[in-house]
Amino acid sequence: MSMKELFIASNNAHKIYEIGEILKKNGFETKLLCPRDFNDHDEPVEDGNTYAENAYIKAKHYYDKYGYPTLADDSGISIDYFGGRPNIHSSRFLGQFSDQEKNEKVLEMMKNVKNRKAVFEAVICFIQNDDVRYYHGENPGEIALEAKGEEGFGYDPIFLIPAYGKTEAELGDVYKNENSHRARALKKWVNDLEK
Ligand code: IMP
Repeated sequence: MSMKELFIASNNAHKIYEIGEILKKNGFETKLLCPRDFNDHDEPVEDGNTYAENAYIKAKHYYDKYGYPTLADDSGISIDYFGGRPNIHSSRFLGQFSDQEKNEKVLEMMKNVKNRKAVFEAVICFIQNDDVRYYHGENPGEIALEAKGEEGFGYDPIFLIPAYGKTEAELGDVYKNENSHRARALKKWVNDLEK
């Protein structure tokens, strides 16, 4: 399956980069477009109650505007200790802080917590020819005791992959492009396209 252009409904440069790398790794070559290419700063309001609803809001917004086959990723982390939060509120968890500040706050709040289970989830919404499809991916792990690593973004420095004893920010692209919640959802999408 080939597609001349694919619009990525995101302003998160790191997310767009990861999506590009994951697609390449899965043999899917296409020109990626994003709102920045159109100097478009008019972002849709993500007021859905689920990852799927928010992914749809983003995909539909840009699909209606530009008409390209459009892919949106809505993702986040659910932490057992916080009763499954922040989930869809991951980017705004605990207020408007930098990723580093947020990670420090989470570590501080969980200083003496034994149950450190967490899961990253992503839902991809893809719209083409008015046909809407969804793909879900998840990757379980734990909240580390301290932030480590330089790669990735968001919660990666505190997301520990127990099998490796390292955080996603330490494991980096090689790990994430194969195993992350986003990689798992995108692989399902590529497989579906190939059918
Ligand atoms: P979204 O752009 O509205 O989907 O927000 C996703 C938020 O979830 C990001 O701002 C990050 O805080 C977090 N997140 C999603 N995916 C990842 C990831 O791969 N690594 C680290 N944090 C992530």
